[in-house]
Amino acid sequence: MPTLRTLEDLEREGLIAPDPRLVEAEQALAIALTPDVAALIDRRDLANDPIARQFVPSACETKIAPEELADPIGDEARSPVKGIVHRYPDRVLLKPIHVCPVYCRFCFRREKVGPGSEALSAAELESALAYIRDHAEIWEVILTGGDPLMLGPRRLRALIEALDAIPHVAVIRVHSRVPIVDPGRVSDDLVAALKPGRAGLWLAVHCNHPRELAPPARAALARLADAGFPLLGQTVLLAGVNDDADTLAALMRALVTARVKPYYLHHPDLVRGTGHFRVSIERGQALMKALRGRLSGLAQPTYVLDVPGGHGKVPVGPAYVRDDPDALRVEDAFGKHHRYPG
Ligand SMILES: *Cc1c(COP(=O)(O)O)cnc(C)c1O
Ligand code: SF4
Repeated sequence: MPTLRTLEDLEREGLIAPDPRLVEAEQALAIALTPDVAALIDRRDLANDPIARQFVPSACETKIAPEELADPIGDEARSPVKGIVHRYPDRVLLKPIHVCPVYCRFCFRREKVGPGSEALSAAELESALAYIRDHAEIWEVILTGGDPLMLGPRRLRALIEALDAIPHVAVIRVHSRVPIVDPGRVSDDLVAALKPGRAGLWLAVHCNHPRELAPPARAALARLADAGFPLLGQTVLLAGVNDDADTLAALMRALVTARVKPYYLHHPDLVRGTGHFRVSIERGQALMKALRGRLSGLAQPTYVLDVPGGHGKVPVGPAYVRDDPDALRVEDAFGKHHRYPG
């Protein structure tokens, strides 16, 4: 079965019923479900399926709330050259390609990703690399997109080599959904292409539900871990997908078991047409508290908010310390309060 890319494909597979509002949803964000993802969907309970909810378009996407933004994290204002976002002094995002193996209905770059805008041209990529070369303060380059692992092994190798040749670039971080949603792409050639000679390479995988870590995805992660890459997990907190303590706990444990260290739990961004995915920060904090009492420290992500308007990410997890007039009060992982002098 090829990747499902049209409303007709989804109808034929019995994943949607015809609805003119879905045409509008498709215009705002392309559709793509890889065979691996389509196989994870529980068709007996489509309405509540956490995998279908992430990838199958919904009529809810046509509801745009006034607070929702076209550029929710303000990337546009921080882009000195095409393909680069430079918000923090020591690191840049480099977006070599705009296509993804799947299109997530909550995507925070939904105005930017999709077929049609494909990849940077050779000249654009060269200008982006020149920017990195000219800025000695750039310690880390974060390849994102789109999904950088949609570049073939040959182009990926050339890009990693070009970055590795810049002496001040100490770390290359690759953000990808490929190992989870299209694990067959993680071939020996791809793994070899990722190996830099000098810089440290970290791979962050995007995974939102424990069911996504099916045997093929776990095998792809094992190939990457065996090749020596440290793996990080990124999860978006999503209503109806993972906004309950049991699901989040199972996900974080499954990631750690697959040698992926949970890095960030992202509060959902104010993306147009994604109100049905949004959770309150209070709810996110309560979930983080539930994890703190129950799970290994290895399984604890940092709960972060990308402050709308391009102000960057900050942790918004629960506070365990309160400043009382006489002493600090510390809450422990079981909800009991203690005085701490100072
Ligand atoms: C998220 C992001 C980063 C990476 O932030 P970390 O906290 O280092 O993971 C870097 N640049 C931009 C513009 C970002 O949005
Ligand atoms: S893989 Fe990432 S960039 Fe691509 S659609 Fe999903 S969230 Fe957006």
